[in-house]
Amino acid sequence: MTNMTKSSEPKNVVIIGAGPVGLVIAWTLARRKDLQGNPLYNVHVFERRPDPRTTRHADEAYSFNIMLSSRGIKTIREAGLLDSFVREGAACKQLLFCIGGDDVKNGLFWEFDPVFGTGDHYIAMSRDTMMCTVLEEMETISEKNIHVLFNASCNLFDFENANIHVATNGVEKVYHYDLLIGADGARSRLRDAMCKHDYSIKASWEHVGMSGKTVRVSYKELQKAGLWEHVVDKEGLPRAIFSFSADHSMSFIGTPDKSKDYTFTFAMNMPMKWDSFTDKEALRSHIIACYPRLGEIAWKYLEPIWDRPAYRVLSAKSSQFHLDGHNVMLIGDAAHALPPTYGQGLNTSFEDVTVLNRLLDSYNDTKFDDVVTEFSKLRKPNADAISDLSYDMYGLFQNEPLAILQFVMDMTRHCIVSYLPIPEEWRRTMVVEDFVGTYVAHHTVDFQQLQKMQQRHFKIGCIILLMLLAALISIMVKYLLPPQMTSWDSEHVSVYNVSKALYF
Ligand SMILES: Cc1cc2nc3c(=O)[nH]c(=O)nc-3n(C[C@H](O)[C@H](O)[C@H](O)COP(=O)(O)OP(=O)(O)OC[C@H]3O[C@@H](n4cnc5c(N)ncnc54)[C@H](O)[C@@H]3O)c2cc1C
Repeated sequence: MTNMTKSSEPKNVVIIGAGPVGLVIAWTLARRKDLQGNPLYNVHVFERRPDPRTTRHADEAYSFNIMLSSRGIKTIREAGLLDSFVREGAACKQLLFCIGGDDVKNGLFWEFDPVFGTGDHYIAMSRDTMMCTVLEEMETISEKNIHVLFNASCNLFDFENANIHVATNGVEKVYHYDLLIGADGARSRLRDAMCKHDYSIKASWEHVGMSGKTVRVSYKELQKAGLWEHVVDKEGLPRAIFSFSADHSMSFIGTPDKSKDYTFTFAMNMPMKWDSFTDKEALRSHIIACYPRLGEIAWKYLEPIWDRPAYRVLSAKSSQFHLDGHNVMLIGDAAHALPPTYGQGLNTSFEDVTVLNRLLDSYNDTKFDDVVTEFSKLRKPNADAISDLSYDMYGLFQNEPLAILQFVMDMTRHCIVSYLPIPEEWRRTMVVEDFVGTYVAHHTVDFQQLQKMQQRHFKIGCIILLMLLAALISIMVKYLLPPQMTSWDSEHVSVYNVSKALYF
């Protein structure tokens, strides 16, 4: 057994999973120092996959490019990683939203606000590049208090003795920890172990109803197809692209990286599945029917992998993110994996990193038991709110009449409230110049607040629609019915007659 603890030495933090969240939390903890400038933590990260610097995971589920918006950028800025992310990623300023398929030539643009108050832009990069960037930065830490071990799987947890069993190339070693952090993704082993240890913790994961395949498409293909000028903005920066097919069976996410190449992620929405297609030609025809231009380009890359199983998009929830009485916690997708509709999975996870560091500040890097409990209390409601918001949005994409109704309600509320002579403060809460969806990505307001805002907007929208409906009915009564029916003063017309005329 490797016991790394001595009372005079930095505290041992063990992190399971060297995904983006595991690495960024490791980096921030390793840089925490006492007043004399000595590191407070000795950080071990165990990752079951190979080192992405030598073995790219480009052919696997994790190959899609990820977009970092306000929350994510706030964390990497505070962690001192923004410059390297900007250097290695693609600045992205607009979303090209193609309604009902891939009509990139006539898509709608949605301007990403410069990240709230800072002027930074959204950054798109692959998960691999993100991980390699953080790993390279780690090399610059002179204290060498971060140890990342690849091909190392954590399968057994001994919470009573604060030990973890790690298997590397068939050899098992036991490590002791003062704080154990599970950053091991949506199917977290640590989360399962916590549930087995404490029956009061309820956790589950589920398929969101999307299964995906991602391919990397060179920008030259888009140029050849005459689409490039529609895909880039005025400054020549590639836009992120999002599209739901007209028949709702597929969704498409196109995200660029520094080389301007894109990852195209095609997701089948339930009940449609990739294996609903037993022959290649049927699949090709379906994709091209849904996405005539982008599908045609992507098919070149999709064909060779047509029989590779699609990855299923998961969401995960847990009733709490810590284990009572033990210094054990979950972070990132392990605590709350989200449907990808708002692109907030990693952004929310990076926000966890900021919150954990704030808590360590306020507890002076002591009392880990309180830190993990407090972390759960703060993050759980927030994670639930963005999960609900993401599911609501997914539901809207799948239900066109509902989406149109929502749009009409939003626009009506927006127009009416904008012109009402009411105090500015009221106007802001009623209309907020914008829609909840834009706030999710552009700001770092608590997700619970945004959820309340959405509920309030819904109520206001309903009231306005009812008022409009009532106005329409009065107009109809006044102008469309025969005069004697609308003449309320007339002794011949009773309320009964009017109701009869309206309803029967
Ligand atoms: C199609 C799609 C598009 C997305 N786009 C965006 C986007 O634009 N913006 C955004 O913010 N989010 C996006 N997301 C979500 C984002 O990918 C995740 O939120 C993010 O990857 C979570 O990071 P993580 O480090 O918590 O978990 P993961 O990335 O899942 O990493 C977990 C790591 O733990 C390792 N591991 C697991 N078990 C063990 C074990 N027992 N021992 C050792 N290691 C282990 C795994 O190998 C893995 O490397 C998207 C998701 C999907 C599916």
